[in-house]
Amino acid sequence: MRKFGKKGIIIILAALAVAAGALAFFLTTDSAEAEFVAYSEFLEWVSAGRVERAVLGDAPEITFFVHNSESTFETTNPRNPALKEALLLAGIAVSEGATLRSGSISAILPVLLMIAMFALVFRAMNKAGGRGAMALNAVAADVAASGVNFADVAGNDEAKDMVTDVVDFIKNPAKYEEFGARMPRGIILHGPPGTGKTLMARAIAGEAGVPFYAVSGSDFVQMYVGVGAQRVRELFKKARESGRAVIFIDEIDAVGKTRASGGNAGGNDERDQTLNALLTEMSGFDAASGIIVIAATNRPDTLDEALLRPGRFDRQIEIGLPDLAGRRRILAVHAENKPLENDLDLNILAKQTVFFSGAMLENLLNEAAIYAAKQGKKAIGQKEVDAAYYTIVAGSEKKDRSGIKEQERRITAYHEGGHALATKLLLPANSVAKITIIPSTKGAGGFCLNLPPDKMYYTKSELQNQAMTLLAGRAAEEIVFGAENITTGASNDIQRVNALIRDFVTKYGMSNTLGLAITEGEEADAECRRQIAELYAKTRELLASHRCTLDGIAAALLERESLNEDELDALIAA
Ligand code: ADP
Ligand code: ZN
Repeated sequence: MRKFGKKGIIIILAALAVAAGALAFFLTTDSAEAEFVAYSEFLEWVSAGRVERAVLGDAPEITFFVHNSESTFETTNPRNPALKEALLLAGIAVSEGATLRSGSISAILPVLLMIAMFALVFRAMNKAGGRGAMALNAVAADVAASGVNFADVAGNDEAKDMVTDVVDFIKNPAKYEEFGARMPRGIILHGPPGTGKTLMARAIAGEAGVPFYAVSGSDFVQMYVGVGAQRVRELFKKARESGRAVIFIDEIDAVGKTRASGGNAGGNDERDQTLNALLTEMSGFDAASGIIVIAATNRPDTLDEALLRPGRFDRQIEIGLPDLAGRRRILAVHAENKPLENDLDLNILAKQTVFFSGAMLENLLNEAAIYAAKQGKKAIGQKEVDAAYYTIVAGSEKKDRSGIKEQERRITAYHEGGHALATKLLLPANSVAKITIIPSTKGAGGFCLNLPPDKMYYTKSELQNQAMTLLAGRAAEEIVFGAENITTGASNDIQRVNALIRDFVTKYGMSNTLGLAITEGEEADAECRRQIAELYAKTRELLASHRCTLDGIAAALLERESLNEDELDALIAA
């Protein structure tokens, strides 16, 4: 911008004002007897292909016409700068602002010339201010996202449940404000790549019928100091201009890594500035604005604490790899528009794709479709799917994971089965909400989601039972596969049981031998060791005496990959 100087800019602004005045005189929006529709509905019509022509105006905002109809419609113009492009991309004729009221061509010619001149000047300015122009480019708004909704996200039902209130809030922020409810400004979706985090964020925008602004954290940090922060401000400015919106930041860890986990010791000024700008913007917007920031990461453990505080990203939702039923549903979604041969069974395909992400499943059917088309076939058959399967498994970085050894699945099934069975037998007040052999970002092999009841105190026997349920994973491995074949899968359990028993002995004064004499040191160490060994032996005995049930749970896990509480109860009752 230096090129023009202050004086130049003043002249340009003055000329602009004159031009605007002239335009206002000659032009007016055409809004006679139009029917008003909600903006969200307008977007729905756009994605359904009903809209033929739109006039982006000022006064009553957007005027538009639909195919096969004489009527004129109107809707609010949120002044989203990306709207025009999105409409054009959707094949809609777009004009800006107005229809002619009066005056001949000769009268408006000078105005048109002026506009043309300004267009040239602004192009030059944008080039000169290269950074500014780049910042704008980084912010790609995607209004067409409104076409995606929850029906496009297969599985992930828990995650969907956890965001339905957010969708409602974006649609109608005032309703929540009336109740004094504070909605999250930010949500973090975490999970392995390709599990549909971006898809979920898009669907939230689509369900709420608001524009979707997507950027990647890595876009923010590769440049010079200050550019990232500038881009963040730019992004929020755009979102605010469109009123309600979903802002999506992929790879948030690129911006929000803890200082401790950052590679370079001296810290990274650029990243800090960008992170601060993000936090400032997030605390800046009005609680009732209906803007929500959704961030995605596959490294939730590396995020800076500052991001997770209340009023920031205070809701964290895991989007895990799909289990058998989830994969079946994802395959169904992506098979919908593809002709399949009758004997191609999606249930079997779902069984053969353990540890596939949603993206890999989509890719699998797509590759198969390409093979079938290339071969000039009428429909996709088993042969094409097999060919695609090998391309995908070979091409995937996590080759070992997709082709995971059957033996590892069995070990995981018994390990998690052991935890679940011991919890049911020893801690009947706890609920085992979910048990699965699909790995999550938190649990290594699989996990057993064990929810303790709400209470203030634990009794001595409850603490001992808790320790036993923690030890039950390792104990099951040992009983079934032998002492030589126990695995590293239990390392987290073992850390936790050690911490628990140390408190038992040295904090709660519950050991019979040491009693209330709280000591640290050799005596306490020996007592902890004795306690853990004794509890471990008891756990092994308990599981061995329920071996049939343990086998049943493990078999069900190998077959279905995850079990809910009812299914587990039924297996134990059997
Ligand atoms: P992420 O953001 O977690 O890396 P994406 O949302 O980019 O994953 O997913 C990539 C693609 O994979 C999606 O566009 C979609 O085609 C497919 N996909 C992933 N998960 C699902 C799902 N749960 N249901 C349907 N399709 C899915
Ligand atoms: Zn375990």
